[in-house]
Amino acid sequence: MRYVIIGTGVAGVSAVEAIRGVDRGAEIVMVGDDPHGYYSRPGLAYFLTGELHDKALFPKTREEYARLNFKFMNTRVTEIDREKKSVLLNGKTPLTYDKLLIATGASAVPLTVPGANLQGVVKLDHLNDAHSITKLAKRGRTAIVVGGGITALELTEGLLARGMNVQYLLRGERYWSNVLDEGESRIVEARLQAEGVTLHYRSDIAEIVGKSKVSGVRLKDGRSLKCDLLAYAIGVSPRMELARAAGLDVERGILVNEYLQTNDPDIFAAGDVAQVFDPLTGHSVLDSLWNPAREQGFAAGLNMAGQNKPYLKSAPFNVTRLAGLTTTIIGAVGHGRDEDVLGIARGDSETWRELPDAIMAQGGFDVNHVRLVIGEKSLHGAVVMGDQTLSTPLQNIISKQIDISPIRERLLARDAKIADVLVEFWSDHVAIA
Ligand SMILES: Cc1cc2nc3c(=O)[nH]c(=O)nc-3n(C[C@H](O)[C@H](O)[C@H](O)COP(=O)(O)OP(=O)(O)OC[C@H]3O[C@@H](n4cnc5c(N)ncnc54)[C@H](O)[C@@H]3O)c2cc1C
Repeated sequence: MRYVIIGTGVAGVSAVEAIRGVDRGAEIVMVGDDPHGYYSRPGLAYFLTGELHDKALFPKTREEYARLNFKFMNTRVTEIDREKKSVLLNGKTPLTYDKLLIATGASAVPLTVPGANLQGVVKLDHLNDAHSITKLAKRGRTAIVVGGGITALELTEGLLARGMNVQYLLRGERYWSNVLDEGESRIVEARLQAEGVTLHYRSDIAEIVGKSKVSGVRLKDGRSLKCDLLAYAIGVSPRMELARAAGLDVERGILVNEYLQTNDPDIFAAGDVAQVFDPLTGHSVLDSLWNPAREQGFAAGLNMAGQNKPYLKSAPFNVTRLAGLTTTIIGAVGHGRDEDVLGIARGDSETWRELPDAIMAQGGFDVNHVRLVIGEKSLHGAVVMGDQTLSTPLQNIISKQIDISPIRERLLARDAKIADVLVEFWSDHVAIA
């Protein structure tokens, strides 16, 4: 029996762990085109700010890899041949499989304006990108950041920490408009401004200018801005070219059933590249989140090894930092389109933008803020900024769809003390359970 895994991210590695747990003797081959193999991609933000050394991004020791006993090939898969049940390595060498996992992740949507391939125009997908940003930041003084979601802010914070002046260009009127509400966007923007970031609203790039290296941008409204580096984060797209060319069913990602199986029973997909059924919204959605990728990879591995374990997607959540403010986003909280992001961003979930017919309740002020999306009997989503006391209870209440009828009216009351009501409800719930 030979299992072949394409991708050395968290989904691929979790699949190896699951397979090895149930099949000690099988051959497992992992193929990945990133020279650094498996590391924490969310950790790249902390490497950029200088809070983490790049060595701290690697979660596994040599001994742990040795125990998993798999073969790693640092090359690219260029084709999947479903008839022959084989993948082609680097356009040359075939490698047959019995079961195949596609865990190829997602990559940054490229900027398409003229000048986008000038030196000094950067994105943040890989460790190599982070290394080149730190080198370029040493040489320049002014950086322009374009885009939205978490990664645009991570780039901003990283470049600030490296001593650059940062100008942040937003196409629309406010930051992350389809996940945060207006008050939340303004909290983040005010913090960026307090850190010295210049925000430019309604600013769209017409052209990036420079000879071989970027020296500035010309905006669609005619203004020009100078810069030594331009960093963009305008969304990510699942790497599904292999699946599409092999005739597998794809939409925005590779379509899989509850066993993470594609329409070919011997081929599975997991992580950022997979489009998975979401019971919370009733749709099949994409996430670009570490935890779902890990859980999906593990479930796919078990199923590849014949375990028949359905994967049940829970309410997606992310605990992140927005302009230094710890923020947890859970379930469905927003809707519509954000002009700064095409599709989905890193650390993002399509579920977050599936706001149902529900009522909002807000509590707290300034940096300690909570917003609840309240349905008939349960909470659909929440945003917690600053004080994180409510974050874990809310993750549980939302993902388990706990009946909140006993406190619904109190949450919706004028001047409700939302935090107190929730803490009391959660303590009673835990005590009973
Ligand atoms: C800067 C940044 C910040 C993030 N912040 C957060 C956050 O705050 N919270 C959160 O939950 N998530 C965050 N994420 C997202 C999270 O890291 C991803 O959801 C997760 O890494 C997805 O894992 P994966 O295994 O599906 O894909 P990946 O980690 O992308 O791994 C895919 C691998 O496949 C390889 N590959 C692709 N195509 C081929 C091919 N043809 N042949 C061989 N190899 C191939 C790639 O080289 C890559 O190594 C962030 C990501 C980044 C980059």
